[in-house]
Amino acid sequence: MTTPIEEHPLQSAGNAGSDLQPELIMRGVPASPGIAIGPAYLFTKDRLKVEPRRLTQAQVPGEIERFRAALEETRQDILKTRAMAMKTTGDIVARLFDSHLLILEDVMLVDETIERMQEEKVSADWLVHDIMQRTYRSLKSQKGEYFSQRADDIRDVARRLVFNLQGVKDEYLSDLDKPVVVIAPDLTPSDIIHLDRSHVLGIATNLGGATSHTAILTRSMEVPAVTGLKNVTELVCPGQTMVINGNSGKVVLHPTPEHVEEYRAKRRKFVAFWTRLKELRDLPTQTTDGHRVRLMANIELPAESDAVVTHGGEGIGLFRTEYLFLTRGSLPSEQEQVTEYRRVVEAMHPHGVVIRTFDLGGDKVMPGLNFPKESNPFLGWRAIRVCLDLNDLLRAQLSAILQVSYQRDVRIMIPLVSDLTEVRRTRAILREVMAGLEAQGLPFNPNIPLGIMVEVPSAVVMARELARECDFFSLGTNDLVQYTLAVDRANENVTHLYTPYHPAVLRMIRDTVRAAHEARIPVSICGEMAGDPLATLLLVGLGLDDLSVAPVLLPEIKKIIRSASYETAHRVARQAFRYHTAAEVEAFLVATMKKLFADLPVWFNREG
Ligand code: PEP
Ligand code: MG
Repeated sequence: MTTPIEEHPLQSAGNAGSDLQPELIMRGVPASPGIAIGPAYLFTKDRLKVEPRRLTQAQVPGEIERFRAALEETRQDILKTRAMAMKTTGDIVARLFDSHLLILEDVMLVDETIERMQEEKVSADWLVHDIMQRTYRSLKSQKGEYFSQRADDIRDVARRLVFNLQGVKDEYLSDLDKPVVVIAPDLTPSDIIHLDRSHVLGIATNLGGATSHTAILTRSMEVPAVTGLKNVTELVCPGQTMVINGNSGKVVLHPTPEHVEEYRAKRRKFVAFWTRLKELRDLPTQTTDGHRVRLMANIELPAESDAVVTHGGEGIGLFRTEYLFLTRGSLPSEQEQVTEYRRVVEAMHPHGVVIRTFDLGGDKVMPGLNFPKESNPFLGWRAIRVCLDLNDLLRAQLSAILQVSYQRDVRIMIPLVSDLTEVRRTRAILREVMAGLEAQGLPFNPNIPLGIMVEVPSAVVMARELARECDFFSLGTNDLVQYTLAVDRANENVTHLYTPYHPAVLRMIRDTVRAAHEARIPVSICGEMAGDPLATLLLVGLGLDDLSVAPVLLPEIKKIIRSASYETAHRVARQAFRYHTAAEVEAFLVATMKKLFADLPVWFNREG
């Protein structure tokens, strides 16, 4: 497979430096790394044309038959796409299409369409469109990336189903005959899976953020991409050369010949960097003067453990188990959990796995669990609070974790701890569950470490007391930032205020590390800050024992750690505390890191 960073022999194709159009620079979200240069190809799929068609009573049974046949045809289409995804990108992306199958098999969709066909006597394609449009809108109106992605899945399935009902062939990106940069309003997962990697140099879309399907899939397929460009489809001239920089989010339409040359040089540099990173895989994560840091990975789904191994991760520092619910839409049984946890633990052995108990609530609500409507869900029934109230849920999960802990490095982590009582209650339940397993003669590790996420300010303030009763700490800066600064992590109106570089957050990290080390327990960080190259030396200098980051970020962070001394890291950490605003801290870090790593094309050096 061609990677985004390989030189493509035809990347110079297109009408470069045309004097017909002035150069135009746009900024979007850097969704998938790499630089692409080539002719623009506008991919605007035909909009669905659905008109209600009246049926006579006698036509209804035939229409129901037609609907059932289209459901089966769509099922086969999805299975084919799934198989294709499996071949090109592996298990994790293929699983996305499992949720498409679930949508298609949803009894509500099937029953409601048939019932309404009988009552209203209207054609199936109109009803499918109407029902799915309603669900799409309702999901889109909810907060959080999870719902937005589910809505996109519904739209994808609806499109296939309506096309099959109408006998229309959907348009895909597999029929291109030369290498192009694809410009589209938005892309569905099926669009991306069908694209022909040898002809798609890069992708730019009007919609989508850093965690949209387009971003996740293009990263997996290693196609450079920029999303969230708002109106690139209106400004682009099809056929003319354009540049997309998936590292910085910059897109250049009708670039001057000088700029095309400049981007070619940038691309060569990036290719060389990326290739060298792969060579770091089996080297230890240590500073130039030998200070070891354990570099682990965060995963949401068991299948991601493959990516952790490929990128050289030393275990899993955060397994967000609630995604087992969210991807299947129902409660996994204890036995299913044992199977999934075992898969991860065995894949990582001899490295360890930190399994976090379900962090449901906040923006991760599950329809089946009767989540109350709350005006402040992030301050409400969430994480360990839910688990301690729904005791059976916690017992089953602890039992499943214990069953995979025998002779393996498995640790249990409690999210959102705000009071010592929560640790004590969980430990008491853990003991009871152990007694039950013992009675059944099932083996487990009786000394399994029990730790907490430090992600609420009260946990930082009480860190000394908590450290005496916990086996490890892990700093969850994603939440710690939101609770410390009173800035909702999912609210676009206040994103400019959401920063881990606020001095208050830095002090919290420092105090947590001190408390942990005084009690002689290890402390890690698994919030997104751990994967930001700007923070790496600061965190190492503050004494964090482990960093846990998204699998794809492992090589970059390892490279930074291996390129500086522990003494330098200490100095950076000490100096960062001289500043009293987030902007000052960040400016200091950018200047220092640029100076130390002028040659690394990590983001703070990737202007343009
Ligand atoms: C955190 O809060 O930093 C964290 C890692 O947990 P999550 O992002 O799952 O809330
Ligand atoms: Mg959290």
